[in-house]
Order: sequence, then C-alpha cells, then structure tokens
Amino acid sequence: MTDLNTVLTTCPYCGVGCGVEVTKLDSGLVNVQGNKSHPANFGRLCSKGSALADTIGLEGRLLHPMINGQQVSWETALDAVADGLKQVILEHGPDAVAFYVSGQLLTEDYYVANKLMKGFIGSSNIDTNSRLCMSSAVAGYKRAFGSDSVPCCYEDLDLADLIIIEGSNTAWCHPIVFQRIAKAKKLRPELKIIVIDPRKTATCDIADLHLPIKPGTDTSLFNGLLNAINKQNKIDWDFVNHHTEGLLDALNAAEQTAADVARVAQVCELNEQDINHFFQLFINTEKVVTLYSQGINQSSSGTDKSNAIINCHLITGRIGKPAMGPFSITGQPNAMGGREVGALSNQLAAHMELENPNHHDLVSRFWQTDNLATTAGLKAVDMFEAIHHGKIKAVWVIATNPVVTLPNADKVRRAIENCDLVVVSECELNTGTAARADILLPALAWGEKTGTVTNSERRISRQRSFLPHPGEAEEDWWILSEVAKRMGFGDAFNYQSSADIFREHAALSGFENNGKRDFDISKLADLTDKQYNKLLPIQWPVSSDKPSGRKRLFQDKHFFTATGKAQLIPITPRLPKNPVSSEYPLILNTGRIRDQWHTMTRTARSPRLNAHISEPIVQIHPVDADNYQLKNGAIARLESQWGNMLARVVITEEQRVGSVFVPMHWNDFLASKGRVNSLVNPVVDPISGQPESKHTPIRISSYQPAWYGFLFSRIALKPSDSEYWVKIKGQQFYRYELAGETVIENPSDWAKNQLGKEGEWIEFLDQGASRFRTAKIVNNRLESVVFIASEFDLPARSWLSQLFSETSLNDEMRMSLLAGKPGAGLPDCGPMVCACFGVGENAILTAIKEGSAKTVEEIGSLLKAGTNCGSCIPEIQKIISG
Ligand code: SF4
Repeated sequence: MTDLNTVLTTCPYCGVGCGVEVTKLDSGLVNVQGNKSHPANFGRLCSKGSALADTIGLEGRLLHPMINGQQVSWETALDAVADGLKQVILEHGPDAVAFYVSGQLLTEDYYVANKLMKGFIGSSNIDTNSRLCMSSAVAGYKRAFGSDSVPCCYEDLDLADLIIIEGSNTAWCHPIVFQRIAKAKKLRPELKIIVIDPRKTATCDIADLHLPIKPGTDTSLFNGLLNAINKQNKIDWDFVNHHTEGLLDALNAAEQTAADVARVAQVCELNEQDINHFFQLFINTEKVVTLYSQGINQSSSGTDKSNAIINCHLITGRIGKPAMGPFSITGQPNAMGGREVGALSNQLAAHMELENPNHHDLVSRFWQTDNLATTAGLKAVDMFEAIHHGKIKAVWVIATNPVVTLPNADKVRRAIENCDLVVVSECELNTGTAARADILLPALAWGEKTGTVTNSERRISRQRSFLPHPGEAEEDWWILSEVAKRMGFGDAFNYQSSADIFREHAALSGFENNGKRDFDISKLADLTDKQYNKLLPIQWPVSSDKPSGRKRLFQDKHFFTATGKAQLIPITPRLPKNPVSSEYPLILNTGRIRDQWHTMTRTARSPRLNAHISEPIVQIHPVDADNYQLKNGAIARLESQWGNMLARVVITEEQRVGSVFVPMHWNDFLASKGRVNSLVNPVVDPISGQPESKHTPIRISSYQPAWYGFLFSRIALKPSDSEYWVKIKGQQFYRYELAGETVIENPSDWAKNQLGKEGEWIEFLDQGASRFRTAKIVNNRLESVVFIASEFDLPARSWLSQLFSETSLNDEMRMSLLAGKPGAGLPDCGPMVCACFGVGENAILTAIKEGSAKTVEEIGSLLKAGTNCGSCIPEIQKIISG
C-alpha cells in the first residue's frame, strides 16, 4: 500500500499477472497504472491493463439475484439453488450435477467451489474454462515431472541466450512478457529468438528466425530435434542417467518418426535450411527457454506436443537452472490458482490426485468428510455433452460464458437451454450463458472483490478491492458457502473472509506433505488478516525451508514421480483429428487479438480498446482470397460441419496458404454472427481433454448481401433489417457495422425509423449508384450518421468517429460530413494503431512523410505511440517499413 487513496492489486486479464496501482481521484474516478514494484511487470501495463479504468462502470451489470427473469432476495435465490441441487442429487445421484468454473475466479473462490463439489457433494464434475487454455501443458508436466510444476520464471527470459516461442503470439496475448523479451534482445542483440507459428504474427517482429510450421506438426519438429541432439552426441549423460527414465523409448520413437531433417521438413512443410538452423541453435546454446502457449495446448495431441518439448530440455539437462527450461505460459489471470486448488475435474486439491489412496485419505481427513469423490469427473467438452444428453441435469456456471467459448458452441447453447436447472453466477447481465439461466446470482467484479491469484511463473499476488459492493453483488466464495450451508454442509463452509479460506488452502498444501508434493505454501497458513492484506507477490513453494518462495523448480534435480526421476516420453506424432477435405478445404485457427479479452464483456466497454480491430475478422492469404473470390474489407461466410459465421475479410501474406485465422472474442450481444466457436470441432486431446481449437476444417465464400452500411448513434440502438450487425462502443457514440439481405426501399425513412425524426437532417442520395448518406445534427452537434451502399467499400470510419467528440460542427465539417472524409486542412487520425495514447496511422504517416520521425523511438518521442505497453511497436515498424 502507498496511501489510503492508492490500492495495489493485479490485472484481471492474462496470465502474465501484472501488478496494478489504482489511485482514487477526488472526482470519484480512478487512475490505473502499472505497479513499479511488482516483479511481473515493473510498472508496465499493456493496452488492456492500461484501459482498466474504462471498464468499471455499472452499465450492464447484474446487481440482484433473479429467478426466471424476476428479481428475488438472496435468501430465495440461495434456497432455490440449494434445493434444486439437492433434489437432482436425491433423484439422480451426485454425478447428475456439475459446476463449470473459470480462470477468472480468485483462488479462494476456486477453493470453495472445488471443496463443495468434490468434498461434500461427492462428485468430481467440476471443471474450469482453463481446460480450454492450458490443460495439455498440465498433463505434459505431470507426465514428465510427476507434478504440475512450471519450472521457470520470467527472469529466465532476461538471462537466456536462445528463446524459442512456439504456438504463441506473445506480442498480443502476453504483451508484457513480450516487451520483456524485446528489451532483453535490445540489451543483448546476441540473444537469439526463434518463433514457431503457422502465422507470421507481431511476435515475429523480434525474431531471428520464423518457422511457419504446418499446423499440428510440432511433435515431428521436436522429435527431429531430439534425434539431432542424440546424433550429434549432445545428450547430457550425467543428468539423463541419474535423473531421468525412458531415454531409449523416447529416442526410438524420435528415430522412427523424424529420422532426418528432410523428413521433418516434408512433414512440417518447412525448408531444411531453417530446420537445421533451429536445431543447431538449440543444440549449441546452453541457456534455452522454450516458451509455449495455446498453439501447443489447443490440439488433439497437445499433451504430446508439450512432452516433445520437455524431452528436448530433459536430455540436454536444461531444466532447473537459470535461463533454461520448458515454460508454458497461461492464458488466464488465475489458471494457475485453479490448478493449485484442483478445479480441473481430474485433480484433487493442492496438486493431489483423485486416484491416489493416500491423497484421498489425507484430503478426507483434512476436510473432515466421508464423501470425497473417488474418480475423475467430466472434462469441459464431455460435461456439456452430458448436459446435452440429459445425464447432467443441473449445472452451475461461475464467471464464464461457455456458449461463446466452448467448441461446437451452438450445441452447447442448446444443451444449456434444455438443461433442467441452470444457475449462473456472473458480474454481467448480458452474456449468452446468463441469458439462458434459470437462476442468476450477482457476483463482484474486478475492483470490488478481494483474494489472491497466481500467474504463469507461480507468483501469488493479492487482488484487492477499491470499489464498494454494487447493488446486492457478493463474493463468489460467499455465494458458494451459503449454498453449501443450505445443503447441510455448514460446518465446513463457515468462512468469514477470503483470508480464512486462503489460510485453509495453504494449510492443506502443507498437510502431511514433508517435501512429497511440489505445491506447498504452508508457510502462509498462519498469516494474520493484516499480513494477508499486506501479502507481497511471492512464488511458491513457500514452506518452512523456503520461506521466501522459490524462483525455479528442480534445482535439486528431484522430480515428483515414484522414482524421483523425470520421465522422457516416447512421442508418436499424430496429425489433427479432422483433416481438410474437398468440402471443407481450409484450416480454421482461432485465437486472441491485441486489445480484447475473452468474450469482450469487459474490454468492449472501453472505446480505445474497440478502435484497433472493431469487427469479427477472418485473416486469409492472398492466394486463398483469390481462389474464393474474396475482397479485402468485404464480408465472408465461414462454414464448418458444426456451424457458421460471418466475418470481415482481411487479406494478408502473414497467413499460411490454406489456413485462416479468426479471433475468438465476439459474443451474441456484440455481433449477429460472430461466434467463431460455433464452427470449432469438438475434438479433444485424449489425455488432457483440451479442445483442438487451432484446427477445424472449414469452407469460405463471399457473403453477398443486398446492401452494406454503417450507423453511428450517440445512444445504443437495435438496428433492424440487418442480417449482419456488429456493435462497437466508441468515444461518445455507438457504431454499428451493418449488412442486410433485403433491399431498403426508402433509406431516408429507414434511417429516421432507426434514429427518430427530430433534429436537423442532411441527406445525399445517388439512386443510380444505390448510395445513401445522412447525418442528424442536434444543437449543432453530430447526433447520428448513416451510410448505406450496394458495395462494401464505404469511407473509413475514423474521421466520422472523431466528429462525435466535437462540441460544435464548423462549416468545413458540415460540408465534408457526407463525404465521410475531411476536407483539406481538417485532421483525420486514421485507423487506430496505439490504443494507449489514441494515435492513428495517419498521424504516424504524416510524421514519417514530414521527416520528423524515421524510427520507432522517434515516433514514440514525437507522438508517444508505442511508449506505454509497446504492443503496437510491430505495427509502427510495419508502417515505417512501408
Ligand atoms: S500483459 Fe496486459 S492483460 Fe496481461 S496481465 Fe499484464 S496488463 Fe494485464
């Protein structure tokens, strides 16, 4: 803490886990900046973290308990949840109920949810949306180390001489980690960076080598590397002989499947020279970190991919030492916390195993229950399949939105609609899942709740509240505990605070541990409330012999397997489950974009975060665009065996031929047909249960509506007659991108019907060209704009957006209004590049043209662009390069 008006907390978005400093201003607003003393970010925040203050308003919040759309008291709602669950359990048994929880939860919430389901309801049907994010990494670590232990820390990225970034657009998805790597590269240009990714992403901006690998072939590449290490006699025999098992089988599998570089090149569709370059760099560099993320994990062979990477680190002994190791980076802010409390359906609490009788006995005694689940529950995709088939009759969804994020999302939506009892704990009223709930329970949001989260480097940090509880919203742990009490489990859920829960969680981690389990934070079990409130970021384990935490694991070369030795796993490469076909010839890859988070329920509240990429897009290579007669900026229809969507076409050579990329963010409240997961195949990794979200066969075609258009309005609307619509919140306006399949006979009437007749209207109609443009002005301020045309290439929206911030329109503005672009002398910032400082492309181009800036640094000094989070630096570099 610094002073009474300043609160130190953590960012609620990605797994980097940046420290945030919030200052309450006299105006009632808050200022958000990076916490300079937090070791994850040292004061930096990315565009999303920097915009947190934009997202804390109460518009659209769920503030009261509701049953079937009617507001009810907490007593009524909690009784209804408890009675509903008890009834289903009585009639159908404990496995007929399920909890689907979230990496957005705090560890304390997670702990209570897991304890209730596994410990007292007696089923393991609790799974977390982190299943979609990193469960293959968990399974890989457990196979190799006997425990879910991330061996590395961020400091290793500062110290490494070679960083391999595989299956991760770190620049956009973990921007502060990327900036850390970029800084290390700048300080030590000899640091080599290799990016392995089918796409040429912004992360490649700092790469010495980019391997645009064929999707799904990573195991062949790393088997090839294992083979090369062996053939070049670079095995660390001392380490391998004393601390690993399974070498021969692993080498045999590699030899059989990736015998030489030519074969690897053929399978991975890479050139031999590049592969050799990668292999030689790995083999000859001691300090190597392999950083990997969803591109590895979201695969039907994600666990094998993870172990293929780990194998290469183990046979070279590159683990447990500074600057080296296989480093899986998590997507969500508290995916790691969920792993710690056992919120995956196949884990027990505190990194213990459901099937291990000793662990079962230990947890039963610690929780004082005789009803602890004995077998693994259903993993996320299977859980919703069971709901679809009516085997699960009651589901409680907490802090997540499965109708947008799960694969085969339309089927998930139908499953929820048909489920007997759907309970949703949420901050937001408008989510696709909340809209289908029988019982809605209002939860606290970031800034209101308090607890702990754990980031990708095992660092536990406090999330602290700085806002009052709005309406009747409550902590998730309180809601769960109140339901537990009503189900008859009161003695075990009598918590008074999140500190109580944290102490119990910490005590369980150390209970009869004696160094046998990796996760041990028992030194924190006796924290007073005051010490808990002041807890500084610390990396587990935190036990009596490691009271200050530990940066790296396995420095003692002891692993948590039965023999204490790490396991080398023989890997037989498997291609993605569903290959492309003549009917579905393209590979759909899904992922994140720079300025949005998850299903946009929070980030879409921020105008500056909506400015960079405003619509669902499909990125496609020019060759494919040509083949399918797609034009840049037009709309495409994407179809798979499972569903379809509409997306704006972006043609780019950064895509591989044969693959397209679509962001995973848009929900039904922001776009009519933008949910990409309705197309994604519900195929999972057989070990981890993680879906293959990076590889779905699809087809694509040009969408041919009767008209295209856009509409700006100062107030939110529901535009009618548009099969395609996307809602975008801007600075003092809402913008709607539109397209409709029925010709609008009288566009002037149509516009007035949407926006109201009052006010001064100016109009332009070119009947022959089917072009209509109108603007409504009230008190000399721009109130609304509508542009409609038969073609998609309407004027850019940036200048019109700017006009909504004008308090009064001058003559030049009025004259240019219906042209959609400024006349001479009027500024237009152009498409947004830097979201932190609102710097558009035109401002950067002007600076370059006028000769006042030629480098990224000079652009930064002149316009500030790129000087906060740095996420836009690759884009600025691209503009400079022309
Ligand atoms: S990198 Fe950005 S989104 Fe991730 S924790 Fe840091 S500020 Fe938040």
